[in-house]
Amino acid sequence: MFNGMTATVKDIEARLGSLRDELPPHITLIAVSKTHPENAVLAAYHFGQRVFGENKVQELLAKAEVLPKDIEWHLIGHLQSNKVKHIVPFVSMIHAIDSLKLLKEVEKRAARVDRVIDVLLQMHIAEEESKFGFDKTELLALLHSTEVEQMNHICIRGLMGMATFTNNEDQIRREFRSLKQLFDDVRTSFFKEKSTFDTLSMGMSGDYQLAIEEGSTMVRIGSSIFGSRS
Ligand SMILES: *Cc1c(COP(=O)(O)O)cnc(C)c1O
Repeated sequence: MFNGMTATVKDIEARLGSLRDELPPHITLIAVSKTHPENAVLAAYHFGQRVFGENKVQELLAKAEVLPKDIEWHLIGHLQSNKVKHIVPFVSMIHAIDSLKLLKEVEKRAARVDRVIDVLLQMHIAEEESKFGFDKTELLALLHSTEVEQMNHICIRGLMGMATFTNNEDQIRREFRSLKQLFDDVRTSFFKEKSTFDTLSMGMSGDYQLAIEEGSTMVRIGSSIFGSRS
């Protein structure tokens, strides 16, 4: 199941240490451990990291079962409705809500276990066709719906997006900037009374510096901490 080139414990500590020095204090670091073994997560954990991200439900469940219970698990990848029930009892945040159907399922399952789940709405900002996420019109329609307003077991904490996979920094910056603009607009129009809309999840190993310059509050970093994935 796990392959690629997981970094050594010393490397993981060194990389986490320098990220900690580098990241401004208002930025939350999600250590993305997907495809890396449990002992890599533990190395980061023992170095003080508590927030981890996984992109597949099966892998998240397998790791959460055996790893320390005070880890905050974020599901950062695409989520299918039929898998929501498995993660809702313990997950800290779901980053990739990309349909009303999925949001309804999270609400329903969270109600059953009497939890309120923090979620982010995933926006499609990249030029690639394949990426999931809402466009602006869809986002506004969702936020205007009375159905969403009546959901008491989800808390919409903000937006998430992924820039185009390119070396063109101007393009990446433009995409992040437009997401930040949308985030600010949505906060003003829909969440004025609620300070809970406070999270903009953007930036990965290759582009987190740009993302932070453009207003990110949460970065999802995998390979720069744990090593490459095959
Ligand atoms: C894998 C993944 C990341 C981390 O990617 P790196 O380039 O390894 O930092 C961030 N966000 C999502 C949604 C991912 O699937």
